[in-house]
Amino acid sequence: MPAEFFGSLSNHKTPPTYKFFNGNEWVESKSKKTTDVISPIDNHVVGKLQVVTTKEIDEVIEKAKRAQRQWEATPLNQRIKIMHLVADWIRHFEQYLTSLLTAEIGKTHDEAKGEIVRTADLIDYFADEAQSLKGETLDSDNFPGFEKGRIAMIERVAYGVVLAIAPFNYPVNLSASKIAPALLMGNSVVFKPPTQGGIAGIHLARIFEKSGIPDGIFSCVTGGGSDVGNYLVSHDDIDLVTFTGSSDTGVAIAAKAKMVPLVFECGGNNPAVILPDADLHLAAREIVKGGFSYAGQRCTAIKYVLGTKKILDQLRPIILETLKDMVKPGDPRSPETKLVGPVISESAAIHIEEVIQEAVKDGAKILTGRKRKGSLIEPTILTSVKPEMAVVKKELFGPIVSLIEIKSMDEAITIINNSSYGLQASVFSRDEGSALNFAKYLKVGTVQINGSPQRGPDHFPFLGVKKSGVGVQGVRYSLESMSRLRPIVLNKPQ
Ligand code: NAP
Repeated sequence: MPAEFFGSLSNHKTPPTYKFFNGNEWVESKSKKTTDVISPIDNHVVGKLQVVTTKEIDEVIEKAKRAQRQWEATPLNQRIKIMHLVADWIRHFEQYLTSLLTAEIGKTHDEAKGEIVRTADLIDYFADEAQSLKGETLDSDNFPGFEKGRIAMIERVAYGVVLAIAPFNYPVNLSASKIAPALLMGNSVVFKPPTQGGIAGIHLARIFEKSGIPDGIFSCVTGGGSDVGNYLVSHDDIDLVTFTGSSDTGVAIAAKAKMVPLVFECGGNNPAVILPDADLHLAAREIVKGGFSYAGQRCTAIKYVLGTKKILDQLRPIILETLKDMVKPGDPRSPETKLVGPVISESAAIHIEEVIQEAVKDGAKILTGRKRKGSLIEPTILTSVKPEMAVVKKELFGPIVSLIEIKSMDEAITIINNSSYGLQASVFSRDEGSALNFAKYLKVGTVQINGSPQRGPDHFPFLGVKKSGVGVQGVRYSLESMSRLRPIVLNKPQ
């Protein structure tokens, strides 16, 4: 029953005020300050989160530091068992967590459910994969000029205290994708959920706690990024920062963090290139799915499409037709709504509207969409867009796709490589060889051939270059990035 399991997280008022988890217990902050989580559906306050004090952060990190060594010494199979239990509890509360996500961040039922199910599967996969991470030994015989008898025994060990910061758009999945590998590798974790999505984050934290993580090893501290974020990221006792969020925040955090490893997933502004021989119906479906799922609020959303005049002339009516079939904007609680619900807040929607207006003033044309009602923006396709317009220069987290006409495929490469982002790109062609060849010229993390950008399957490597990220995620890659090599060298020269 959710009430028994989650009941003590809040004070049950309307709206409820949630506690934070200090590593041992759920408590209210001494700050007596809270921050509101506002539903993008109708602006009601879904709940209030504690704004923790710097002293409380110090205490939480101190506990995490003290408890970590014991946790790392715990047999891996026990840590694995706990993670499988976390996955099971997530599945058990699937419906409840799904409805929380819809209320809090405006995801449609199917998208919210997809996030929850995928998270449970991901944690199981992490737990299974952790067993196969192995160390190695190296022998000095193999290196010229070194005498025999030196042996390096190389193990993977924890960093210490990991700070995990998650974004609003996947507050359960992108929290678990940090917390689970960090804990499996023997780190303790200080988790800072996003404000919007923080209630789901708190419920996830409860599941980790109830699954048997020992005292002090795991905590969940809340408060806006601008209230608590700077203090957390620059704390002397944080040994690694794993962050997903916008590129601007990533750059700001990198400037403040101490000399510790950073694993960052940041903004994406992903192009789709349509080569002359592409299957345009396939491309249209992928563009619509890639551009409009969760109202375009995905780092892997397609934001602009590059094609010659001839291609775009053929593609436009097909995209419009596909859009009608696949997208129905509306209230995310309604089963009628497909892909496009509200964006995260009315102020975000107003910003998006302004950027569209600016593009139109500069010569872009509206093929469809543009209208805004509160936080809901119609799925919008712009044509005659130039690469220097703000609508494509900076990631716009909304249901907008821009069509950019190019003269040659070389021009497409220049536009993509000049972008300050480099998460993913899609290339559409019936000739996979040409697409493969084209893909090699693109400075992005991953190129998708004949498919829209995406993070999964979650055991594939996932990374961004330029302002889109630092380091690599993906099941094994995340386990590796949450641990370091520790060589111990036995010197017995013969
Ligand atoms: P955001 O505003 O950058 O916030 C991300 C997280 O950072 C939140 O928990 C936020 O807390 C916190 N934060 C804000 N300022 C901080 C500071 N100065 N110090 C420490 N933490 C701080 O991003 P968002 O709007 O939540 O998420 C959307 C962005 O994430 C998009 O740019 C999207 O592309 C990117 N994203 C990237 C990936 C990827 O895999 N590459 C995946 C998903 C999302 P508060 O919410 O409390 O302010």
